[in-house]
Amino acid sequence: MTTTGTWLPEDASAVACLTFDVDAETGILSANAKAADHAMAISHQQFGPEIGVPRILDILANLDVHATFFFPGWVAERRPALVEKIAAAGHEIGHHSYSHVPASSMTREQEERDFTRALKVFEDIGVPIYGHRAGLWEASWSTPAIVAEHGLTYDSSLMTQDSPYRITTEAGSITELPPHWSLDDWEQYAFLPFPEIGQHIKNPSDVLQMWTAEVDAMRRFGGLFMLTNHPFLSGRPARAVALEALIGHILDTGDVPILTGYELATHLAEVALPERAHEKPCIEDGLFPTP
Ligand SMILES: [Zn+2]
Repeated sequence: MTTTGTWLPEDASAVACLTFDVDAETGILSANAKAADHAMAISHQQFGPEIGVPRILDILANLDVHATFFFPGWVAERRPALVEKIAAAGHEIGHHSYSHVPASSMTREQEERDFTRALKVFEDIGVPIYGHRAGLWEASWSTPAIVAEHGLTYDSSLMTQDSPYRITTEAGSITELPPHWSLDDWEQYAFLPFPEIGQHIKNPSDVLQMWTAEVDAMRRFGGLFMLTNHPFLSGRPARAVALEALIGHILDTGDVPILTGYELATHLAEVALPERAHEKPCIEDGLFPTP
């Protein structure tokens, strides 16, 4: 039965999803293949799966919450034991492209190939896949249709709302669980001289304060607190401690359930959500500059 009205579970004032994008080496290789020549840069990215993920898993276990770990297929293929370990701890594994190259820079055929290549990796490992997140959130105008076509139930790349909505495509509809830059650790902590992925080393206490305020504001507006963290960034000590405090704050509210993307999408299957088309705007010739 489809219900109308709020999308929120009973007695909830907002919902939180904790998501971790395990980009590892693809976080820089997708920007520039020459990054493979830079030992320091590669080691910086390897910190994520090697140290960041186990540290974050311990924090989640201690707080008894579950999260969604989005893996590029390239990373999962090289670390199947890590994927299995995360899944065995009760967390969800999500599809984060194969190469992490932005879908917006690919043709539909290239994107389809990249998408199915990752699906095959997850299938070989034996983990079920329900959700997708485009590399760098750079979905194309074809992405939701590809997600629907392959039977996944949700995507988490687009930002038309700050609560879940439905995207209709020629291959069926999917649920969109929108992220936002303000809830991403990349804009707070990403620093690397080459390839230049950011120049940020913010104070984790300030980040905690900002995200805590966002949780509270989400409770006022009934929003989805979609946290996007990267183990190579948020796995560093003071940042991990701030993450732990943030999760503690969410739990203390008593009315913001922490759900995996799959759990939320499953709940939403019975809810009438706003339906939005996903179409490139028509641009009148000559109206806007085309450099
Ligand atoms: Zn990513």
